[in-house]
Amino acid sequence: MARLNKNNSAVKRIMQEARELANDPCTDYSAAPLEDDIFEWHCTLRGPNGTEFEGGVYHFRILLPAEYPFRPPSIMMLTPNGRFELNTKICISFTSYHEELWQPAWGVRTAIVGLQGFFPLKGTAAVGVGALEYPVAERKRLAALSREWVCPKCNCTNLELLPDPPSDASRAAPPNAESQITEVPAASPGPLTPATPAVIADVKQKASADEPPRAQVDAPSPSIPIVAPRPQRPSPPPSILTTPIDTTPTPRTVSPRPDGASSAQLQQAAGPKRDAQSSGRPPVLLDTAICVLLVLLFALIVKRFL
Ligand SMILES: [Zn+2]
Repeated sequence: MARLNKNNSAVKRIMQEARELANDPCTDYSAAPLEDDIFEWHCTLRGPNGTEFEGGVYHFRILLPAEYPFRPPSIMMLTPNGRFELNTKICISFTSYHEELWQPAWGVRTAIVGLQGFFPLKGTAAVGVGALEYPVAERKRLAALSREWVCPKCNCTNLELLPDPPSDASRAAPPNAESQITEVPAASPGPLTPATPAVIADVKQKASADEPPRAQVDAPSPSIPIVAPRPQRPSPPPSILTTPIDTTPTPRTVSPRPDGASSAQLQQAAGPKRDAQSSGRPPVLLDTAICVLLVLLFALIVKRFL
């Protein structure tokens, strides 16, 4: 009990990690401190998938120093595995063999995950104190045996300490995901919108579905008032001038609507056009054409008679 002074920073830290691991269990490993020694943990780790350790379940000890977390833990394998010696402190970058690499921010979970990553290493990367290079077939055989291996301290098989994730889990996961996805759309209009990507996707879809009509409705409404007056100012004068020749008052009434200067200029510019169009050009052209025709007819008649 002397070591279990709860004012000790190491004890505080270890108890905190134990609570976090208990509250957030992982299907790849389980770990807990011994009841009579919080500085010694017994852990169970699943062999990495896709390796000769797949299907294996391995038990090992983690020994935490009194200076933890300022000094790194030690790891000792208990279950025969063909990768690490048993009952020997394993040389891994985060273990006591490499104190210079340890960071106090790391913890027991870091060590376990790191150990899992060291399992499949080959060649020089796998060399170190406590490393073994058993043939693949032997490692597979040991992996199969490891499941029923019993820890004398825990009095449990590895499978009992770390049950296989139920194949139902993989089956249950899709239904859960589907249910979440199906539930999400219903809840998406609610306040839970930022929760999941599915929700965001739904929101985007709804927004995109709503946006096009809005944009179509909104775009024309502002564009009409803006675009309409511009064409009206230049275009109306010719149309008004061509059709109503004698209705001079109408352009005068139109002129006050736009700016005075522009309207006056338009009227001035339009004025001569009216005179040219109304009085001058058409009659002159018609007269000349008629005269030319008469001259031609007269010339034909004269030729026949001659
Ligand atoms: Zn144990």
